Amino acid sequence: MVQMVCLLSALCCKMMDYRTGIGYDIHKLKLGIPLMIGGIQIPYSKGLAGHSDGDVLLHAIVDAILGGMAEGDIGTYFSDRDSKWKNASSKLFIKHAWKIAQKKGFTIQFVDCIIIAEKPKFSPHFKEIRKSLADLLSIPLSRVSVKAKTQEKIGEIGKGKAIAAMAVSTLQKFSRPLALS
Ligand SMILES: [Zn+2]
Repeated sequence: MVQMVCLLSALCCKMMDYRTGIGYDIHKLKLGIPLMIGGIQIPYSKGLAGHSDGDVLLHAIVDAILGGMAEGDIGTYFSDRDSKWKNASSKLFIKHAWKIAQKKGFTIQFVDCIIIAEKPKFSPHFKEIRKSLADLLSIPLSRVSVKAKTQEKIGEIGKGKAIAAMAVSTLQKFSRPLALS
């Protein structure tokens, strides 16, 4: 009986092996370049400067996924000193993080994020951003949450000089790695 309880308890622990990762990123705004957020282009006069396409939201989510697996951060895999990633689409980064998760037997259960920007207004684009994230992570739309906040005109973000993003991901670990699809 005791053995049975121990076995059930061990199985239960494996089934309930959840991890949480957090990610944050910030990039400067620059005139005349596309503004990429969550893998889509948002109409605006400025875009985010960076080694890649500067997509702060995808970068924060990559860090949240890697963090949930204790696998370092975006720089571990995509160094900004590597010319290979110059002007690269950040969609590559998030797809890579998702593949690492699959190989290690993790599934992404939920992603919640905040875009911190004075301008432009992101709420009209929430639906499209959520859809883009759900597609990139191969999870249902109901498992992706996107919100936005201003910085109340405080600091560099508040002056409209930069945009930041924060993300939290919930991962579930299975005892055996899942097959890649
Ligand atoms: Zn970044």
